[in-house]
Amino acid sequence: MKKRLSKARPAARSARRKGIVDPAKQARLVSDRLAPAIPSPRIELDFQTPWQLLIATILSAQSTDDRINMVTPMLFRRWPTPRALAAASQAEVEEVVKSTGFFRNKAKAIRECSRALVERHGGEVPRTMEEMVELPGVARKTANVVLGNALGIQAGMAVDTHALRVSRRLALTRQEDPAKVEADLCAVFPKNEWTVSALRLQLHGRYVCTARKPDCAHCPLNEICPSREAVPVGTLQDRIRYERVVVKSRGRERPES
Ligand code: SF4
Repeated sequence: MKKRLSKARPAARSARRKGIVDPAKQARLVSDRLAPAIPSPRIELDFQTPWQLLIATILSAQSTDDRINMVTPMLFRRWPTPRALAAASQAEVEEVVKSTGFFRNKAKAIRECSRALVERHGGEVPRTMEEMVELPGVARKTANVVLGNALGIQAGMAVDTHALRVSRRLALTRQEDPAKVEADLCAVFPKNEWTVSALRLQLHGRYVCTARKPDCAHCPLNEICPSREAVPVGTLQDRIRYERVVVKSRGRERPES
């Protein structure tokens, strides 16, 4: 049977206008609308193995995924294993990752992280949050990205700057600290959907609910969002189709409305 999207009742609309939102109900409404708009969310960093995603994620701090995807093929060609990267010279690794920014710190972090994998885990990426955050250069967000996207382990939800902003705008949380935001999100999204739900929030924030100019008019979440800044354009299905095109094209295409 076809699933119907939830419609806000007058009382719920009034509460939402006043910024009073039940986060659990809100999470269900958000999922109902974002799931068809971003049906198969995928991380935008290229990788072949959990170790490659770990290294790419460390490098992606303060950079773009497109930039990292330009650098990692050369990096992994020259040093194809944790053991090889751990043994590489700092100067040579710096040269390869230079364009990603903060290259001295990043070169050191990926070498030390690779060394720790070899020394503590036989060159394999560990499968628990506790072990992951013990690795040099790895905090919860990176650990969640790798565990969820490369190993299929739902340890938590990766809260990047986009997911954090979107979660606050949608009143899924009032927190500002990423760890507290993650705890709020994990409490309201089903555990078996933590990775995809986090990816949807990230992609929605990256391409539609942007920091400076959120595209509220075309947003499928418009009617349920207490932070909306424009009236919705077209039907909900029109905006779901719009977001599907925008996210799939990584923001390069925006259909005419
Ligand atoms: S309506 Fe605007 S503020 Fe709310 S989620 Fe959509 S783009 Fe973001």
